[in-house]
Amino acid sequence: EVNRSTVIKAYQELKADSLVDSHVGKGTVVLSHTVKKTALPDSYINPLPWYQFFTDSINAGTDNIIGDIMAMTGDSGVISFAGGIPASNLYPVEILKTIQTELFTTANRELFLHSPVEGYYPLRESISHLLRQRQIAASPKDVVVLSGSQQGLDFAARIFIRTGDTVLVEEPTFFGAIQIFRSAGARVIGVPIDQEGMRTDVLEALLIRHKPKFIYTLPTFQNPSGVSMSLERRYQLLNLAYQYQLPILEDDPYGELYYDRPPYPPLKALDRHGYVIYLSTFSKTLFLGLRVGWVSGPPQVLAKFAHLKQLTDLHVNTPAQFLLDEFIRRGYYEKHITLVRQEYSARRDAMLKALEKYKVPGTKWDKPEGGYYIWCRLPDNIIRHKLVANAGNRGVVFLPGETFYPDGTQGDTRIRLNYTFTNQEQIQTGIKYLMQAVRETTSL
Ligand code: PMP
Repeated sequence: EVNRSTVIKAYQELKADSLVDSHVGKGTVVLSHTVKKTALPDSYINPLPWYQFFTDSINAGTDNIIGDIMAMTGDSGVISFAGGIPASNLYPVEILKTIQTELFTTANRELFLHSPVEGYYPLRESISHLLRQRQIAASPKDVVVLSGSQQGLDFAARIFIRTGDTVLVEEPTFFGAIQIFRSAGARVIGVPIDQEGMRTDVLEALLIRHKPKFIYTLPTFQNPSGVSMSLERRYQLLNLAYQYQLPILEDDPYGELYYDRPPYPPLKALDRHGYVIYLSTFSKTLFLGLRVGWVSGPPQVLAKFAHLKQLTDLHVNTPAQFLLDEFIRRGYYEKHITLVRQEYSARRDAMLKALEKYKVPGTKWDKPEGGYYIWCRLPDNIIRHKLVANAGNRGVVFLPGETFYPDGTQGDTRIRLNYTFTNQEQIQTGIKYLMQAVRETTSL
């Protein structure tokens, strides 16, 4: 007797060699016109030079920093100040579970279907409501739901950037944005920042010189610096945009996460002339894996975002949109924000305290009033390329400052420290080891 799996395996081998074919209902038949494989000998074949087939834009970006950080923070033995990740102990697991069960139990058929390209309408209503709390008057129709604000950045790049165009960004800024704009063919030029955010006094000269396609800004609790743009600068930036007829791409993942007092209104709230395209996300307030963000802006621009959404992936996954909408509607989102604000402000304070306690001469930092990060200055004589490894050997990871600069040559005495992901005990231990590493990595 022959084993059944042996027979199946034999058939599979014959099928792979095109000697038999099988169809449901017909069984397996021997093919009459079987072709003998005529592969060239291996020695005749060269490897395919893949890079010759890639587009310039895909060849432009090779580093995989976000992937690297994602991999690093997944290691449980490591204290990570590197990523921008919410506190995992605060995920509203039970509530989400209840809503999810309800949604699937009532088995609303819509849950399993496509949703509109622009997003599930009730969720657009909920987002419009959240925007009103941020002083932005946007109707549900002024919102397009996206797979995170990362997708918003990508779409903005695809909508506006031609090879060789210039984009102005703050210096330092979110490295993901630098990567995306560059891979779309842009020259990314930095505008310096200070305690009041983007230096609008330097901006005008840069506008004249580089004629950018748009200005990308993170006015509130900036990544990585934690700085917020003053109200005066917000108006100056808008006025320059009006004067030079330039779109502003405002990225606001952190605005709701204030720990002392509410921040100034977003640029979008201050803009009366439809120059601002506003991106935001639930990644930093709820959880990263959700992949729900949105864009709000003038109708002509939103139509382009919707068009790209359709081309790219049709819409954000329907169950996630239903789940999130219910979570917001039932008032849980607001409660959750209150909870994370308390926890993150305590974690921020714990990190500030630890930095003070283990202070190495020459290190400096400011107290961020919201958001996720402390932008720490290291002593001038730090041996930068050794610090990552030395801290890593002690089980602590962080992001080196130069990552956030478009030209990669500045920021080498800075590091970005995230305080939301680690608990207070880990913060205390992590800063202690990190500062030991700093102490040992300075040249005399
Ligand atoms: N913009 C900024 C400034 C960010 O910090 C991040 C997340 N690190 C993103 C956009 C991307 O967020 P999302 O998860 O919504 O794609």
